[in-house]
Amino acid sequence: MKKPEKKSALHEFKGVSNTPHLNRDAIKQRRKKRSLPDPDELTGKLLSGDPVALSKAITLIESANPKHFDLGQKIIKKCLPHTGESVRIGITGVPGVGKSTFIESIGKLYTAQGHKVAVLAIDPSSSLSKGSILGDKTRMETLVRDKNAFIRPSPSGNNLGGVARKTRETILLCEAAGFDRIIVETVGVGQSETMAHSMVDFFLLLKLAGAGDELQGIKRGIIELADLIVINKAEEDNMNKARLAQKAFQTALHFYPPKPSGWTPKVLLASALNHKGVDQIANEIDTYLKLTRKNGFFEQNRLEQNRYWLFETVNQTLKNNFYNRPEIQKKLKKLLIQLEKKEITAFEAAKKLLS
Ligand code: GDP
Repeated sequence: MKKPEKKSALHEFKGVSNTPHLNRDAIKQRRKKRSLPDPDELTGKLLSGDPVALSKAITLIESANPKHFDLGQKIIKKCLPHTGESVRIGITGVPGVGKSTFIESIGKLYTAQGHKVAVLAIDPSSSLSKGSILGDKTRMETLVRDKNAFIRPSPSGNNLGGVARKTRETILLCEAAGFDRIIVETVGVGQSETMAHSMVDFFLLLKLAGAGDELQGIKRGIIELADLIVINKAEEDNMNKARLAQKAFQTALHFYPPKPSGWTPKVLLASALNHKGVDQIANEIDTYLKLTRKNGFFEQNRLEQNRYWLFETVNQTLKNNFYNRPEIQKKLKKLLIQLEKKEITAFEAAKKLLS
């Protein structure tokens, strides 16, 4: 019998063969890939409707990297002459009301009519925490596969102002890429509805029929923003409740002053899941567009929205620049302690900080 070979404790087993020398060409290639895209080339592709180029451009404007941001701004500037030719529709409602089901239904209707549909989202939760209300589930599974639809989840950001800026710029990029129906979806939390309202032409509020308490729990002011209220999940088993809700909202609408658009908002019933009532809603949006284009409100409103965003951006930037200054942060810390000890009034502290 063969004796087992004696092996020293230092014996090394034959391992994998040496890795090949690092390939300089491959590294160069990879670096090239990571380098910034050429703005002219990317804009050209985007204008031809290339969804990959569109996604890349959106990623640039969403980036916190100043180089990416600047490049994104360059691209937007190049795209500007090709923007504005769309209808921007805002859709809001609490989680579970059926927003994604509804958007999928109306989105399919639009693409069947030959439109190109972009769905964007403003999700306030993405700016508050890592999680997000709108992005957690697989949404709009059919629309996602439609080559004439483009769905982009909500950008994240430290504040809603930042998220809104990104969404507004994304609208412009989508328009330049040929999307003529832009849907901005938002959850009814905090200021996000007002933000969405200030960037769309038409604002739709989705509601569910409750037990006669439809108007309770609805945020003040939200009815005023709506151009159309839709009671979703209006199906046989709860048609009575849906009709009651419809009446309650119709009555509530009477208490608001006439809209500057000259439009009288309606309350309609729908079942997004069964594609019921969705055609009527699309018709209603068309009627609104005809009216507001004819009476000049459409253009006027967009102009006012642009003005609003100019001031909003200046305000946000001034505020951020102010609070980010190290001397302000230091001084603020001291003043907050003084405030707590009642050594100073809030007004006096603010004055000191500002001076
Ligand atoms: P979201 O959170 O507002 O986007 O709501 P979803 O579209 O995800 O819908 C929430 C749930 O309601 C899902 O289970 C949908 O299938 C269901 N749903 C949506 N629309 C309708 C509808 O018109 N009728 C019924 N019965 N269910 C619906």
